[in-house]
Amino acid sequence: MAAKTLQKDIMQYYKESQAIKDAIADAERILIITHVDPDGDALGSLTAVGLAMQQLGKSVTLAVDGGLLRRFSFLPLADQIAQSADNTTYDLIISVDCGDEQRMGHTFADLPLPRPTLINIDHHVTNTNFGSINLVDAEAASTTEILTLLFNDLDIRMTSDIAQSLLTGLVTDTLGFRTLNVTPRTFEIASQMMQAGADLPTITMLALNLKPLSTLKMWNVGLSNMRMKNGLIWTTISKAERDALGYNGTGSGGLVSMMSDVETAAISVVLNELDDGRISVSFRSRPPYNVADLAMNLGGGGHPLAAGCTLDGPLDKAETLVVDLSLQAIETANHD
Ligand code: AMP
Ligand code: MN
Ligand code: MN
Repeated sequence: MAAKTLQKDIMQYYKESQAIKDAIADAERILIITHVDPDGDALGSLTAVGLAMQQLGKSVTLAVDGGLLRRFSFLPLADQIAQSADNTTYDLIISVDCGDEQRMGHTFADLPLPRPTLINIDHHVTNTNFGSINLVDAEAASTTEILTLLFNDLDIRMTSDIAQSLLTGLVTDTLGFRTLNVTPRTFEIASQMMQAGADLPTITMLALNLKPLSTLKMWNVGLSNMRMKNGLIWTTISKAERDALGYNGTGSGGLVSMMSDVETAAISVVLNELDDGRISVSFRSRPPYNVADLAMNLGGGGHPLAAGCTLDGPLDKAETLVVDLSLQAIETANHD
């Protein structure tokens, strides 16, 4: 099979591109949404689509439940990201990096009915195809990887600002090109973004490396609570522990990835007790262990090797449930 290249083919890269092009052509006011607790791919995708739609002369609102994270304030359009939609009537919604409707949080749930056409652009294998048009490519290392190919299909001019947003999603979701889903296509796109003016050293430093001191203190607590059994390595961080450290973030991405690198670990889990008493759960694994199914069975979603869900408290009950199911998943995979 001939590999498609990033060069402009007569054929569009995605079969969904024409329907997306038509829906955009019919719209004037567009609401762009990404997921709660946004990461670099969420915010890179959000701002890249915002810039692309502005280039097409559209009026855009960028909204994310909970707003922007400070460390991503270097992104173009960052100062224009709202916490919710305004009172405008939208002709079109574009959702990026969300596996299901709930991931958009209040920003989406509070919109008046009937809702306009929704374009769902995402790379989660667990995506529920909740849009009117669904562009879901689970082989893409980031949603911004999909957007690069889509923008080519839509004849969007690649500016340095768009490239900066797109490369941010690629660098953060691949942990600096270290995840197992990185392909030649990923590097081809990264190279194209750098040639268009994206600043890789700045992205790597601001979006990937730098973190508050309180994050390391949180890891310290997490590592001292860490346990290991039959290939499962896990830890918990209670709200009381976070409060004592002055750590107000909800993420545990760095810690759960670090734990998954233990040689004898099949699955790693971090359970984080949130301010409202619910428990945010992050999963990582190495092949052949699959945490997307595990997280989806618990009402969440994600990728085969990186997934998550949110459970009801209390913490010890959630821990027991997650540990039991994770050990079962390891056991099942060991016998397949
Ligand atoms: P995290 O552990 O927060 O870095 O998330 C890892 C992956 O799981 C990401 O692709 C997330 O989009 C997905 N994920 C995390 N939490 C949830 C959730 N509550 N529901 C659905 N997907 C989630
Ligand atoms: Mn994301
Ligand atoms: Mn992503």
